Amino acid sequence: MKRCDVLVVGGGPSGSVAAALLAREGLTVLLVERDPYPRFHVGESLLPANLLLMDRLGVHDAVRKMGPLVKYGATFYDQESDHEQTFYFVKRPSLPNYGYEVKRAEFDAVLLEHARAAGAEVLQPATAEPPQFDQDGVTVTLTGGAGRLPVRARFLVDASGRDGLIASSIGRRARVPNLGKIALFAHHQGAARAPGIDEGNIRIYVFPDGWCWWIPFAGDVTSVGCVLHAKTVRGREGAPEALYDEILAGVPRVADGLRSATRITPVHRAANFAYTNSPITGDRFVCVGDAVAFLDPIFSAGVYIAMQSAELAAPAIARAIRTNRFDARQFREYERRLRYGLRPFFRFIERYYEPAFLEIFLRPRAFLGMLDAVTGVLAGAAFHRMSPRMRFSLTVFFAIARFNYWVRRFRGRPVQSRLEW
Ligand SMILES: Cc1cc2nc3c(=O)[nH]c(=O)nc-3n(C[C@H](O)[C@H](O)[C@H](O)COP(=O)(O)OP(=O)(O)OC[C@H]3O[C@@H](n4cnc5c(N)ncnc54)[C@H](O)[C@@H]3O)c2cc1C
Repeated sequence: MKRCDVLVVGGGPSGSVAAALLAREGLTVLLVERDPYPRFHVGESLLPANLLLMDRLGVHDAVRKMGPLVKYGATFYDQESDHEQTFYFVKRPSLPNYGYEVKRAEFDAVLLEHARAAGAEVLQPATAEPPQFDQDGVTVTLTGGAGRLPVRARFLVDASGRDGLIASSIGRRARVPNLGKIALFAHHQGAARAPGIDEGNIRIYVFPDGWCWWIPFAGDVTSVGCVLHAKTVRGREGAPEALYDEILAGVPRVADGLRSATRITPVHRAANFAYTNSPITGDRFVCVGDAVAFLDPIFSAGVYIAMQSAELAAPAIARAIRTNRFDARQFREYERRLRYGLRPFFRFIERYYEPAFLEIFLRPRAFLGMLDAVTGVLAGAAFHRMSPRMRFSLTVFFAIARFNYWVRRFRGRPVQSRLEW
């Protein structure tokens, strides 16, 4: 039986950050990751708030050495209205004016190496079976690699991403039915590049059946994915390649950009990725990252939230080990702060599929600080504490979007949310 203070299940961004911070506290940390690295993973566009977090973790230099492409903004284009809007990140006292585009195979390997260097032991490939909790700790059997290995830990961090180890074993997963989207994505070599500082922008192309992302990396590889409404894909569950090609062909700006490009990976598929899990804290465990919840990738916040949740959870876990108090109450503050941080993203995602909201979102006014507030949310600035000014500006912004709903209705224009599709 292998013994440790903390067992971290999952070596994605949330698991690696949790493991590094807990190892630095002098705890014995074992991180187990099912897949051998490097491995392909979705989630390649990082927010400015992520960079600050990397500074705090001391991993930013290692990430810079990977040579990520700098992203100064996010460009949204609505095919129906032919309207385009680029939100350039603004330098703020607490945030840089850029984020990064990264290949996750490289980025996740750097974070995992950082956790190892901080003192965490890493077992890979190793899959954690459902945990057995008792009064004194938790027992987990690992499989894969060198066979079956029982592990006894005082505490468990569920960083297993969308697999949700706790939710699927002792908890629950509530699907968010209206966000039951399906994503198809791949990497392409030789795709078109935007000039100047716009090269690194994430581009989002909205069309009636869903939306596409365009994420360029340093060099000449570009990630292109589409997120489709369930209604669009119903009855078309064949080879993903054919559907992917067909959808991209229907988005002229994407099709044009890919004209001289070659697809260099298989087409990957992710489905049913909108859910909230519960419980996310309990006696002797916390969940971090996607093991907590995931709604929709439209604002590229997943990796930031994953790393941020681990940073928020680590001090509470270290305190629990020091004081030998492991009941769920010890982790309530973590849960409260995490939910506070998630709210602005979730609110934007839920409204994004309403034509009335999208119309206002794509034409934001600098009036009453609204443009600044929207750009702030997109950069991750609203996670910790929103200034009263930012809160006010967002309230005005949402009120105007609501007003636009009634204006559109009055004029007989479509108002139905595409969430329902
Ligand atoms: C279509 C789509 C597009 C996205 N685009 C973006 C984007 O542009 N920007 C962004 O920031 N985010 C994006 N995201 C979200 C992002 O992918 C996730 O939020 C992020 O990867 C979460 O990190 P994590 O560490 O919680 O989980 P993961 O990165 O998923 O890591 C979990 C790890 O746990 C391992 N694991 C699972 N179960 C076990 C087990 N039982 N034992 C051992 N190991 C296990 C897995 O192998 C995996 O490596 C996107 C998501 C989707 C679905």
